[in-house]
Amino acid sequence: MDLRLTEIFLSIQGESSHAGRPCSFVRLTGCPMRCVWCDSEYTFTGGERTSFDDIFAVLERYGCPLVEVTGGEPLAQKNVFPFITELCDRGYEVLIETGGFVSTESVDERAKIILDVKCPASGEAERNHWPNLDRLRSQADEVKFVIADLADWEFAKGVITEYDLTNRSKEVLISPVHGIDLPDIAQAIAASGLRVRLNLQLHKYIWGADARGV
Ligand code: SF4
Repeated sequence: MDLRLTEIFLSIQGESSHAGRPCSFVRLTGCPMRCVWCDSEYTFTGGERTSFDDIFAVLERYGCPLVEVTGGEPLAQKNVFPFITELCDRGYEVLIETGGFVSTESVDERAKIILDVKCPASGEAERNHWPNLDRLRSQADEVKFVIADLADWEFAKGVITEYDLTNRSKEVLISPVHGIDLPDIAQAIAASGLRVRLNLQLHKYIWGADARGV
């Protein structure tokens, strides 16, 4: 079996509660969404069909126990589900970074989900697959809101409250779009009284916003 792969690389996890940990990234090709602030448009097309065996060989060479499967939208390729299961069978700690519009139902339960909820400024909020929120596990899964402005933050607060996300997920991540003014957002988060985490993308501060493969 194979997957259409954009890139595979070893780096530092830049986001989530796992930020700062060494991590291998398997970045798959393709996404049917078009978030206006998307930072990985280069994954929309191209890529190479790559066998599971070739991917596992690279991961073995890296020797990193943490692997993230990302995209694009990783769950848009049906072969990703057996791939995730095999990663888990091989003993890797597996993170799945998903845009939140494909059902997570078929993801191996040993993998940890980092689930985006799209906010209005993304232009794709209508496509959130809300049943994914019901499947969150409080010991493993995280929810991420990428926010472009304070209106997005208000939307995020509404969803967090309505779905009781601070109790139903391991972390609620508030991730400002890179380059927007941070103090207002940080202050609003601090004043909210919510158990959420400001999520800055470490890799963009280390290597720059446009660097690929890091
Ligand atoms: S879901 Fe992710 S990869 Fe797809 S357009 Fe949105 S930000 Fe980009």
